[in-house]
Amino acid sequence: MRIVLIGPPGAGKGTQAQRLVNDLHIPHLSTGEMLRSERKAGTELGLQTAQYMDRGQLVPDELVVKIVDQRLQQQDCQNGYLLDGFPRTVPQADALNELLQQRNTKLDLVLELNVAEEELIERLLQRKRPDDNRETIAERLQVYQKQTSPLLEYYSARGLLASILGQGAPDEVYERLREAVGQHSDRV
Ligand code: ADP
Repeated sequence: MRIVLIGPPGAGKGTQAQRLVNDLHIPHLSTGEMLRSERKAGTELGLQTAQYMDRGQLVPDELVVKIVDQRLQQQDCQNGYLLDGFPRTVPQADALNELLQQRNTKLDLVLELNVAEEELIERLLQRKRPDDNRETIAERLQVYQKQTSPLLEYYSARGLLASILGQGAPDEVYERLREAVGQHSDRV
């Protein structure tokens, strides 16, 4: 299966993605993780993108699309994958369509994790990532509203969207996700 997971920062995408990929036996493609590891490795790309991440802004589309394109070429992606944190803008979604077409493939499902803003802020303040401070959190939530939330309409219009309530215990949230995935596959 080829799945996209969309949700604001703090929605629990990482945790839930990890469980989904374990059950579905597909690779977890997190652009946030990819960018953090480029930075840790001190690559050119890591240097180019660090300033955006530290400010809570999105990294320019062409840089992210390039990383995803390269990742999708690897052997483990041939039978499906879970994209986490990509696409995050309408141009990225258009670019993804292009990448899918080049490979003669399609998305099966777009999962949205929906969590109220007050809860997101609370969760992010408890997390200890360097970009989880008050100013950056506010910026990232705004960026999500402005640039990423239009994708919900985008994928809903294409009949791909399933919205899942991301509040409650992680196990409960995962059950809801599994149910949505189960309607598209017999693998979970
Ligand atoms: P979160 O969803 O909690 O913000 P991520 O790990 O998904 O965490 O992303 C962290 C940062 O990485 C983002 O704030 C952004 O700067 C950058 N980033 C990740 N994915 C993308 C993307 N698809 N497009 C642009 N920037 C991205």
